[in-house]
Amino acid sequence: MTDKFDFIREDTAALKEAGLFIHLRTIESPPGSWMVVDGKKVLNLCTNNYLGLATHPRLVEAAHEALDRLGVGPTAVRSIAGTLSLHVELERKVAEFKGVEDALYVQSGFCANQAAIPPLVGKEDVIFSDRLNHASIIDGCRLSRAKIIVYEHCDPTDLEAKVKEHLSDYRRGIVITDGVFSMDGDVAPLDGIYEVAERYGLMTMVDDAHGEGVLGHGGRGIVDHFGLHGKFDVEIGTFSKAFGVVGGVIAGKKIVVDYLRQKARPFLFSNAVTATDTAACLAAVEVLSESTELVDRLWENTRYFKEEMKKLGFDTGASVTPITPVMLGEAKLAQAFSRRLFEEGVFAMAIGFPTVPRGQARIRVMVSAMLSRDDLDYGLEKFALVGKELGVIEA
Ligand SMILES: *Cc1c(COP(=O)(O)O)cnc(C)c1O
Repeated sequence: MTDKFDFIREDTAALKEAGLFIHLRTIESPPGSWMVVDGKKVLNLCTNNYLGLATHPRLVEAAHEALDRLGVGPTAVRSIAGTLSLHVELERKVAEFKGVEDALYVQSGFCANQAAIPPLVGKEDVIFSDRLNHASIIDGCRLSRAKIIVYEHCDPTDLEAKVKEHLSDYRRGIVITDGVFSMDGDVAPLDGIYEVAERYGLMTMVDDAHGEGVLGHGGRGIVDHFGLHGKFDVEIGTFSKAFGVVGGVIAGKKIVVDYLRQKARPFLFSNAVTATDTAACLAAVEVLSESTELVDRLWENTRYFKEEMKKLGFDTGASVTPITPVMLGEAKLAQAFSRRLFEEGVFAMAIGFPTVPRGQARIRVMVSAMLSRDDLDYGLEKFALVGKELGVIEA
């Protein structure tokens, strides 16, 4: 007997066989340096809470105040009756922080890519996209129905070759890149990409989800890191990572951001973000605007952890940021490694296909400012133990 859901059963069995089936772990504590995960207290090398802002007293207090004053939901889309003064204030503050003309706050980073790309390019246009761009960029590109031409990862020379070959077949073009690549922790050569885009009159967009709060002066992001203020037309961001809350941002040139207020479908057709979240985001931007202390500590921890991992003999790939991939190859090995770490009290997830290419499975360590030297040493000791046990490094 066949059943209409046999395809699901077969596909699920194949995922399990390949070590790619996702098991959801359940979290019962805040995302601090130590967390309670599936009932067990473990060292947190896993969340995107780079700076510890998710539990920062100023963010929590701001959220409480907004909740008490404004209630739980705005109950309208931004363009009808959902635009709170908090949204407007956040957009102004985040634009100032990032050194751009304007910013639009949307529901998530994922949404920001869906919102920003389709209004800028359509069927007659072309998108030049880095081979390893984030899934939300890829989906935003597909939604636009523009032709997508992939250039080699972080390779402005290949970008230029592709632009030369294809641009004249289309009405207009845009180049889109991740800033910090979320699974490898390497950084896009933004200066080289900008030069090519300028030469050929392309629009430019960078997704800074893992750069904000991390790169640049006091966490002002990848554009600040390269000193390219005001050059990129669109800078996508998220409040869900270093900022510790939730929500997305489309920052950049005023002419573009204003146009997106008219055209972006997630902005026009999906409810505004809550006052509670917005107030917490606003407090996060204020905390980062006032001091570089948390970002400095993040980088101190990052340098220490990476150096010690290399000394142990681990391959941490091309990363130059707190995202530290521990390259293992086969997905099954990565899953076994993650499971053993967990038994030893360390929470670090295995990442496999389709999040990374086949045969490049890894453990992805997220270093944060929350970790003490003792915490880092604990993690390193357990990596050494499991690495030797599974034959990844020499005993
Ligand atoms: C995480 C991430 C997103 C999604 O952000 P959310 O706010 O979680 O939806 C988008 N782009 C990139 C590059 C990311 O790493």
